[in-house]
Amino acid sequence: MAIPLNLTEQPFSTTLVEELHELVDRPIRVMVICGTQTRTLLKYSDEDIVPDDLEIVTGPGCSICVMPAGHIDAFVKIGRQPDVITATCEDLLRVQGSQDSLESIKENGALVEVVDSPMEALDLARSHPDKIVVFTAVGFEGAAPDVAETILEAASEGIENFCVIPSIRLLPPSLDSLMSDPELNIRGLLCSAHIMSITDSQAYSDLARQHHLSCAATGFSIDEILRGLISIVKQIRSEKPISANLFNGDGQTEETIRSSRIMSEVFFAVETDWRGLGSIEGSGYVIRDELSLYDAIKRFNVRFKAGDEEFQCKCAEVLSGRLSPDECPSFGISCTSRHPVGPCMAAQEGPCASYFRHIFGRM
Ligand code: SF4
Repeated sequence: MAIPLNLTEQPFSTTLVEELHELVDRPIRVMVICGTQTRTLLKYSDEDIVPDDLEIVTGPGCSICVMPAGHIDAFVKIGRQPDVITATCEDLLRVQGSQDSLESIKENGALVEVVDSPMEALDLARSHPDKIVVFTAVGFEGAAPDVAETILEAASEGIENFCVIPSIRLLPPSLDSLMSDPELNIRGLLCSAHIMSITDSQAYSDLARQHHLSCAATGFSIDEILRGLISIVKQIRSEKPISANLFNGDGQTEETIRSSRIMSEVFFAVETDWRGLGSIEGSGYVIRDELSLYDAIKRFNVRFKAGDEEFQCKCAEVLSGRLSPDECPSFGISCTSRHPVGPCMAAQEGPCASYFRHIFGRM
Protein backbone atom coordinates (compact mmCIF):
# COMPACT_ATOMS: atom_id res chain seq x y z
CA MET A 1 0.00 0.00 0.00
CA ALA A 2 1.50 3.32 -1.07
CA ILE A 3 2.17 5.87 1.63
CA PRO A 4 0.89 9.37 0.88
CA LEU A 5 4.00 11.37 -0.02
CA ASN A 6 3.32 14.15 2.44
CA LEU A 7 3.70 11.68 5.29
CA THR A 8 7.32 10.97 4.41
CA GLU A 9 8.64 14.43 5.01
CA GLN A 10 12.03 13.79 6.55
CA PRO A 11 14.73 12.15 4.44
CA PHE A 12 16.27 9.19 6.19
CA SER A 13 19.93 8.24 6.32
CA THR A 14 20.68 5.51 3.78
CA THR A 15 23.93 4.83 5.68
CA LEU A 16 21.93 3.93 8.79
CA VAL A 17 19.53 1.81 6.75
CA GLU A 18 22.43 -0.09 5.16
CA GLU A 19 24.06 -0.63 8.54
CA LEU A 20 20.83 -2.00 10.00
CA HIS A 21 20.35 -4.37 7.05
CA GLU A 22 23.91 -5.64 7.36
CA LEU A 23 23.57 -6.22 11.08
CA VAL A 24 20.31 -8.20 11.07
CA ASP A 25 21.46 -11.77 10.43
CA ARG A 26 18.68 -13.66 12.28
CA PRO A 27 14.97 -13.27 13.07
CA ILE A 28 14.54 -10.69 15.84
CA ARG A 29 11.33 -9.39 17.46
CA VAL A 30 11.44 -5.86 18.83
CA MET A 31 8.61 -4.20 20.72
CA VAL A 32 8.15 -0.49 20.06
CA ILE A 33 6.29 0.79 23.08
CA CYS A 34 5.88 4.44 22.11
CA GLY A 35 2.90 5.34 19.94
CA THR A 36 4.71 8.26 18.28
CA GLN A 37 7.64 6.05 17.31
CA THR A 38 5.19 3.50 15.90
CA ARG A 39 3.67 6.25 13.77
CA THR A 40 7.09 7.30 12.48
CA LEU A 41 7.95 3.73 11.51
CA LEU A 42 4.61 3.34 9.75
CA LYS A 43 5.28 6.43 7.66
CA TYR A 44 8.36 4.77 6.23
CA SER A 45 7.07 1.23 6.07
CA ASP A 46 7.12 1.09 2.25
CA GLU A 47 10.74 2.20 2.06
CA ASP A 48 12.36 -1.13 3.07
CA ILE A 49 13.99 0.64 5.99
CA VAL A 50 13.48 -2.28 8.34
CA PRO A 51 14.87 -5.66 7.23
CA ASP A 52 12.34 -8.48 6.85
CA ASP A 53 13.91 -10.45 9.69
CA LEU A 54 13.43 -7.57 12.11
CA GLU A 55 9.84 -7.91 13.26
CA ILE A 56 8.37 -4.84 14.95
CA VAL A 57 5.42 -5.39 17.27
CA THR A 58 3.26 -2.91 19.17
CA GLY A 59 3.34 -2.55 22.94
CA PRO A 60 1.47 -0.91 25.80
CA GLY A 61 2.75 2.58 24.97
CA CYS A 62 -0.58 4.44 24.77
CA SER A 63 -1.72 5.47 28.24
CA ILE A 64 -5.35 5.85 27.21
CA CYS A 65 -5.41 2.46 25.50
CA VAL A 66 -4.20 0.58 28.56
CA MET A 67 -6.92 1.97 30.81
CA PRO A 68 -9.54 -0.69 31.55
CA ALA A 69 -13.23 0.10 31.06
CA GLY A 70 -13.69 0.18 34.84
CA HIS A 71 -11.52 3.30 35.05
CA ILE A 72 -13.64 5.07 32.42
CA ASP A 73 -16.68 4.07 34.48
CA ALA A 74 -15.17 5.90 37.47
CA PHE A 75 -14.57 9.03 35.35
CA VAL A 76 -18.18 8.85 34.13
CA LYS A 77 -19.57 8.35 37.64
CA ILE A 78 -17.73 11.39 38.98
CA GLY A 79 -18.51 13.43 35.86
CA ARG A 80 -22.24 12.94 36.46
CA GLN A 81 -22.13 14.44 39.96
CA PRO A 82 -23.87 17.81 40.35
CA ASP A 83 -21.64 20.89 40.20
CA VAL A 84 -18.72 18.94 38.76
CA ILE A 85 -16.78 20.04 35.69
CA THR A 86 -14.69 17.21 34.27
CA ALA A 87 -11.52 18.61 32.69
CA THR A 88 -10.02 16.07 30.33
CA CYS A 89 -7.84 15.60 27.27
CA GLU A 90 -9.68 15.29 23.97
CA ASP A 91 -8.48 11.74 23.34
CA LEU A 92 -10.24 10.41 26.39
CA LEU A 93 -13.68 11.73 25.39
CA ARG A 94 -14.58 8.93 23.01
CA VAL A 95 -13.19 6.02 24.99
CA GLN A 96 -16.05 3.79 25.99
CA GLY A 97 -16.57 2.50 29.52
CA SER A 98 -18.98 -0.32 30.31
CA GLN A 99 -21.92 1.75 29.08
CA ASP A 100 -20.94 5.37 28.64
CA SER A 101 -18.09 7.62 27.68
CA LEU A 102 -17.29 11.16 28.78
CA GLU A 103 -18.58 12.26 25.39
CA SER A 104 -21.94 10.54 25.86
CA ILE A 105 -22.50 12.02 29.33
CA LYS A 106 -21.56 15.45 27.95
CA GLU A 107 -24.24 15.04 25.29
CA ASN A 108 -26.66 14.34 28.12
CA GLY A 109 -25.83 17.49 30.03
CA ALA A 110 -22.76 16.73 32.14
CA LEU A 111 -20.16 19.48 32.23
CA VAL A 112 -17.09 18.17 30.41
CA GLU A 113 -14.34 20.49 29.18
CA VAL A 114 -11.28 19.69 27.06
CA VAL A 115 -8.02 21.02 28.50
CA ASP A 116 -4.42 20.69 27.34
CA SER A 117 -2.77 20.52 30.75
CA PRO A 118 -3.48 20.10 34.46
CA MET A 119 -2.63 23.79 34.98
CA GLU A 120 -5.39 24.68 32.52
CA ALA A 121 -7.76 22.58 34.62
CA LEU A 122 -6.64 24.48 37.73
CA ASP A 123 -7.32 27.77 35.91
CA LEU A 124 -10.81 26.45 35.19
CA ALA A 125 -11.26 25.88 38.93
CA ARG A 126 -10.09 29.45 39.66
CA SER A 127 -12.62 30.86 37.19
CA HIS A 128 -15.51 28.63 38.42
CA PRO A 129 -15.44 28.88 42.22
CA ASP A 130 -19.02 27.54 42.40
CA LYS A 131 -18.03 24.22 40.75
CA ILE A 132 -15.60 21.42 41.54
CA VAL A 133 -13.19 20.88 38.66
CA VAL A 134 -12.06 17.27 38.35
CA PHE A 135 -9.00 16.64 36.18
CA THR A 136 -8.61 13.20 34.59
CA ALA A 137 -4.91 12.57 35.11
CA VAL A 138 -4.16 9.96 32.47
CA GLY A 139 -0.67 9.21 31.27
CA PHE A 140 2.58 7.43 31.96
CA GLU A 141 5.23 8.57 34.38
CA GLY A 142 6.16 11.42 32.01
CA ALA A 143 2.81 13.06 32.79
CA ALA A 144 3.19 12.78 36.55
CA PRO A 145 5.43 15.82 37.32
CA ASP A 146 2.98 18.34 35.81
CA VAL A 147 0.07 16.81 37.67
CA ALA A 148 2.05 16.75 40.92
CA GLU A 149 3.11 20.38 40.47
CA THR A 150 -0.49 21.44 39.83
CA ILE A 151 -1.74 19.67 42.96
CA LEU A 152 1.00 21.33 45.03
CA GLU A 153 0.12 24.73 43.56
CA ALA A 154 -3.57 24.23 44.37
CA ALA A 155 -2.63 23.22 47.93
CA SER A 156 -0.29 26.18 48.42
CA GLU A 157 -2.99 28.61 47.22
CA GLY A 158 -5.69 26.89 49.28
CA ILE A 159 -7.82 26.16 46.20
CA GLU A 160 -10.36 23.57 47.33
CA ASN A 161 -12.62 23.23 44.29
CA PHE A 162 -10.02 21.28 42.31
CA CYS A 163 -9.14 17.60 42.42
CA VAL A 164 -7.66 14.88 40.27
CA ILE A 165 -8.63 11.35 39.28
CA PRO A 166 -5.22 9.68 39.36
CA SER A 167 -4.84 7.22 36.50
CA ILE A 168 -1.11 7.51 35.87
CA ARG A 169 0.72 4.28 35.09
CA LEU A 170 4.32 3.22 35.29
CA LEU A 171 5.64 1.37 32.27
CA PRO A 172 8.55 -0.66 33.69
CA PRO A 173 6.35 -2.93 35.90
CA SER A 174 4.02 -3.60 32.96
CA LEU A 175 6.96 -4.41 30.69
CA ASP A 176 8.39 -6.67 33.36
CA SER A 177 5.08 -8.54 33.43
CA LEU A 178 4.88 -8.76 29.61
CA MET A 179 8.46 -9.89 29.14
CA SER A 180 7.89 -12.74 31.55
CA ASP A 181 5.83 -14.45 28.84
CA PRO A 182 8.35 -16.57 26.88
CA GLU A 183 5.87 -17.06 24.02
CA LEU A 184 6.20 -13.40 23.10
CA ASN A 185 9.89 -13.93 22.40
CA ILE A 186 10.70 -10.21 22.50
CA ARG A 187 14.45 -9.65 22.30
CA GLY A 188 14.54 -5.87 22.08
CA LEU A 189 12.63 -2.90 23.41
CA LEU A 190 12.57 0.52 21.78
CA CYS A 191 11.12 3.34 23.82
CA SER A 192 11.11 7.11 23.82
CA ALA A 193 13.83 8.94 25.74
CA HIS A 194 11.16 11.15 27.28
CA ILE A 195 9.83 8.18 29.23
CA MET A 196 13.26 6.94 30.23
CA SER A 197 14.42 10.35 31.36
CA ILE A 198 11.59 10.65 33.86
CA THR A 199 11.70 7.11 35.10
CA ASP A 200 14.71 5.95 36.98
CA SER A 201 16.76 4.54 34.10
CA GLN A 202 17.80 1.85 36.56
CA ALA A 203 14.35 0.30 36.04
CA TYR A 204 15.18 -0.30 32.36
CA SER A 205 18.64 -1.61 33.22
CA ASP A 206 16.92 -4.10 35.55
CA LEU A 207 14.56 -5.11 32.74
CA ALA A 208 17.51 -5.66 30.42
CA ARG A 209 19.33 -7.81 32.97
CA GLN A 210 16.37 -9.83 34.21
CA HIS A 211 14.88 -10.61 30.80
CA HIS A 212 18.04 -10.62 28.72
CA LEU A 213 16.41 -7.77 26.84
CA SER A 214 18.21 -5.22 24.69
CA CYS A 215 16.73 -1.75 25.27
CA ALA A 216 17.26 1.58 23.55
CA ALA A 217 15.64 4.93 24.21
CA THR A 218 15.66 7.49 21.39
CA GLY A 219 13.85 10.52 20.04
CA PHE A 220 11.03 10.36 17.52
CA SER A 221 12.67 11.01 14.13
CA ILE A 222 13.30 8.15 11.73
CA ASP A 223 17.09 8.46 12.01
CA GLU A 224 16.95 8.42 15.81
CA ILE A 225 14.76 5.33 15.65
CA LEU A 226 17.18 3.67 13.18
CA ARG A 227 20.06 4.34 15.59
CA GLY A 228 17.99 2.78 18.37
CA LEU A 229 17.29 -0.34 16.30
CA ILE A 230 20.99 -0.59 15.38
CA SER A 231 21.91 -0.38 19.07
CA ILE A 232 19.41 -3.12 19.93
CA VAL A 233 20.65 -5.44 17.18
CA LYS A 234 24.30 -4.87 18.14
CA GLN A 235 23.47 -5.70 21.76
CA ILE A 236 21.72 -8.90 20.68
CA ARG A 237 24.62 -9.94 18.44
CA SER A 238 27.17 -9.32 21.17
CA GLU A 239 24.90 -11.01 23.78
CA LYS A 240 25.39 -8.01 26.05
CA PRO A 241 21.93 -6.56 26.60
CA ILE A 242 21.86 -3.20 28.32
CA SER A 243 19.57 -0.21 28.53
CA ALA A 244 21.01 2.44 26.22
CA ASN A 245 19.67 5.96 26.33
CA LEU A 246 20.83 7.39 23.00
CA PHE A 247 19.08 10.67 23.58
CA ASN A 248 20.39 12.06 26.84
CA GLY A 249 22.73 9.59 28.50
CA ASP A 250 21.36 8.35 31.80
CA GLY A 251 18.56 10.89 31.52
CA GLN A 252 19.35 12.44 34.88
CA THR A 253 19.26 16.22 34.57
CA GLU A 254 18.51 18.81 37.22
CA GLU A 255 14.99 18.97 35.84
CA THR A 256 14.39 15.20 36.03
CA ILE A 257 15.80 15.06 39.57
CA ARG A 258 13.42 17.85 40.59
CA SER A 259 10.54 16.08 38.80
CA SER A 260 11.26 12.86 40.69
CA ARG A 261 11.23 14.76 43.98
CA ILE A 262 7.89 16.44 43.24
CA MET A 263 6.37 13.17 42.09
CA SER A 264 7.31 11.38 45.29
CA GLU A 265 5.94 14.30 47.35
CA VAL A 266 2.51 13.78 45.80
CA PHE A 267 2.25 10.15 44.65
CA PHE A 268 3.16 6.65 45.61
CA ALA A 269 2.88 3.48 43.53
CA VAL A 270 0.29 0.74 44.10
CA GLU A 271 -1.10 -2.29 42.26
CA THR A 272 -3.17 -1.14 39.29
CA ASP A 273 -5.28 -2.74 36.53
CA TRP A 274 -4.17 -2.55 32.90
CA ARG A 275 -6.28 -3.39 29.88
CA GLY A 276 -4.98 -6.63 28.51
CA LEU A 277 -2.29 -7.07 31.12
CA GLY A 278 -4.33 -7.51 34.30
CA SER A 279 -3.41 -6.20 37.69
CA ILE A 280 0.26 -5.30 38.14
CA GLU A 281 1.99 -4.60 41.42
CA GLY A 282 3.50 -1.11 41.79
CA SER A 283 2.32 0.05 38.36
CA GLY A 284 0.02 2.98 39.15
CA TYR A 285 0.21 6.19 41.13
CA VAL A 286 -2.20 7.22 43.86
CA ILE A 287 -2.20 10.51 45.78
CA ARG A 288 -0.72 10.59 49.27
CA ASP A 289 -3.14 10.84 52.20
CA GLU A 290 -1.83 14.31 53.19
CA LEU A 291 -3.23 15.60 49.87
CA SER A 292 -6.48 13.57 49.86
CA LEU A 293 -8.55 16.75 49.32
CA TYR A 294 -7.12 16.68 45.79
CA ASP A 295 -7.91 13.00 45.21
CA ALA A 296 -11.28 12.78 43.41
CA ILE A 297 -11.52 9.04 44.10
CA LYS A 298 -11.53 9.67 47.84
CA ARG A 299 -13.49 12.90 47.67
CA PHE A 300 -16.38 11.31 45.75
CA ASN A 301 -15.98 7.90 47.41
CA VAL A 302 -15.70 6.09 44.07
CA ARG A 303 -13.78 2.89 43.43
CA PHE A 304 -12.10 1.59 40.33
CA LYS A 305 -14.04 -1.63 39.63
CA ALA A 306 -13.84 -4.19 36.85
CA GLY A 307 -15.86 -2.98 33.86
CA ASP A 308 -17.33 -4.62 30.76
CA GLU A 309 -15.13 -4.43 27.69
CA GLU A 310 -16.32 -4.98 24.12
CA PHE A 311 -15.67 -8.68 23.56
CA GLN A 312 -14.93 -8.22 19.84
CA CYS A 313 -12.17 -5.73 20.55
CA LYS A 314 -8.65 -7.15 20.44
CA CYS A 315 -6.92 -4.19 22.13
CA ALA A 316 -5.54 -6.52 24.80
CA GLU A 317 -3.71 -8.57 22.15
CA VAL A 318 -2.58 -5.45 20.24
CA LEU A 319 -1.15 -3.82 23.37
CA SER A 320 0.83 -6.92 24.24
CA GLY A 321 2.38 -7.45 20.81
CA ARG A 322 0.33 -10.58 20.11
CA LEU A 323 -1.68 -9.12 17.24
CA SER A 324 -1.04 -6.43 14.69
CA PRO A 325 -3.89 -3.88 14.61
CA ASP A 326 -4.75 -4.72 10.99
CA GLU A 327 -5.17 -8.38 11.99
CA CYS A 328 -8.13 -7.54 14.23
CA PRO A 329 -11.30 -8.77 12.43
CA SER A 330 -13.04 -5.47 13.21
CA PHE A 331 -10.23 -3.22 11.90
CA GLY A 332 -11.50 -0.88 9.17
CA ILE A 333 -14.87 -2.68 9.08
CA SER A 334 -16.90 -2.18 12.24
CA CYS A 335 -14.05 -0.26 13.91
CA THR A 336 -12.89 2.94 12.20
CA SER A 337 -11.51 6.28 13.34
CA ARG A 338 -15.01 7.72 13.01
CA HIS A 339 -16.64 4.88 14.93
CA PRO A 340 -13.98 3.43 17.21
CA VAL A 341 -14.82 0.24 19.06
CA GLY A 342 -11.86 0.17 21.42
CA PRO A 343 -9.45 2.70 22.93
CA CYS A 344 -6.64 1.68 20.56
CA MET A 345 -8.71 3.24 17.77
CA ALA A 346 -10.30 6.04 19.83
CA ALA A 347 -6.99 7.51 21.02
CA GLN A 348 -4.89 9.48 18.52
CA GLU A 349 -1.73 7.72 19.70
CA GLY A 350 -3.42 4.33 19.77
CA PRO A 351 -1.82 1.67 17.56
CA CYS A 352 -5.08 0.90 15.75
CA ALA A 353 -5.63 4.61 15.02
CA SER A 354 -2.07 4.91 13.68
CA TYR A 355 -2.51 1.88 11.42
CA PHE A 356 -5.92 3.13 10.29
CA ARG A 357 -4.53 6.56 9.31
CA HIS A 358 -1.62 4.93 7.56
CA ILE A 359 -3.62 2.37 5.60
CA PHE A 360 -6.65 4.50 4.82
CA GLY A 361 -4.82 7.84 4.69
CA ARG A 362 -7.32 9.66 6.88
CA MET A 363 -6.99 11.73 10.04
S1 SF4 B 1 -9.27 -2.41 15.51
FE1 SF4 B 1 -10.80 -1.64 16.95
S2 SF4 B 1 -11.81 -3.47 17.75
FE2 SF4 B 1 -9.85 -4.11 16.83
S3 SF4 B 1 -8.37 -4.04 18.50
FE3 SF4 B 1 -8.28 -2.08 17.51
S4 SF4 B 1 -9.68 -0.78 18.68
FE4 SF4 B 1 -10.16 -2.92 19.21
